[in-house]
Amino acid sequence: MPPKYGSLHAGFDVGGTRVKYGLCASGGAVAFEGETAVPEYPDDLFALLKKLFRTLKREAGSAVDSVGLGLPGLFDVEDRIIRRSPHCPCLDGLPLLPRLERIFEGPVFFHNEADLAAYGEYAAGAGQGADSLVLITVGTGIGSGIVLNGKLWEGIRGYAGELGHVRVNPGGEHCACGRVGCLETEVSAPAVLRHYKARAACGDDIRPEDILRRAVKGDVNAVFAFSRAGRALGEGIALLINVLNPECILVGGGMMRAGGLLLDPALEQARALSFKAAFDVCRIQKAGLGNSAGWIGAALWAADKGKP
Ligand SMILES: [Zn+2]
Repeated sequence: MPPKYGSLHAGFDVGGTRVKYGLCASGGAVAFEGETAVPEYPDDLFALLKKLFRTLKREAGSAVDSVGLGLPGLFDVEDRIIRRSPHCPCLDGLPLLPRLERIFEGPVFFHNEADLAAYGEYAAGAGQGADSLVLITVGTGIGSGIVLNGKLWEGIRGYAGELGHVRVNPGGEHCACGRVGCLETEVSAPAVLRHYKARAACGDDIRPEDILRRAVKGDVNAVFAFSRAGRALGEGIALLINVLNPECILVGGGMMRAGGLLLDPALEQARALSFKAAFDVCRIQKAGLGNSAGWIGAALWAADKGKP
């Protein structure tokens, strides 16, 4: 590894289907990154993390300065366990700290992956310079994290930032969290599929990217599907604006490949549903770090937490 990076921090982002990992410098410059599939069972996941850490140490050419890890689900900062992971239930209640400290051969800082992605955007992404921001990631589900006054807002036990599970449609669909009509059920990739299938004849094997292609070509039903999801996203954004008056709201995740097809209706709805004074001072834009935000945020958050 060239000496230009100085201290190197290792980050891991364990999502519902992929593990992203890498090494970055204190300012967020990426020195190395990789991605692989999440194994089905926790023991295999721990073995994989051990192997990936060996890779990172080899790439760094020396000991890494700190290690951070983002995990899916409600993370309890006091007991240091995942309370509930709708998309990765095998992690629920596992005593993670001793296993992870053994794997990473020392201190390791871990938290909910969406919270750490928000920290990544704050420290090294599109949120740089903002004192308060919210990151909303829209993919197969919705993740969100909040930074206030330059600190990750964890809540009293670490459960803060679950915007995806705010109810926006009482008569809506069942959600992975066990309730009905959550924002996630109206905005995620499965929601766009559902909105499209409700209006257009198509095969069961149609994918969100097919609908995006059709929307780009002007298919009115495909445009509608993104617009409906976007308006629901705008309800969530309006709620954040009225409650937090944040400086910046960033939208990321795989569904942001749709760009304005999703974001424009969201902005229109957010403007309509929030106080004008608060909307006008909030910078709302696409997130900057793509799917690297989680591991970069984990690495930089660990670097910050590990400071003497
Ligand atoms: Zn839910």
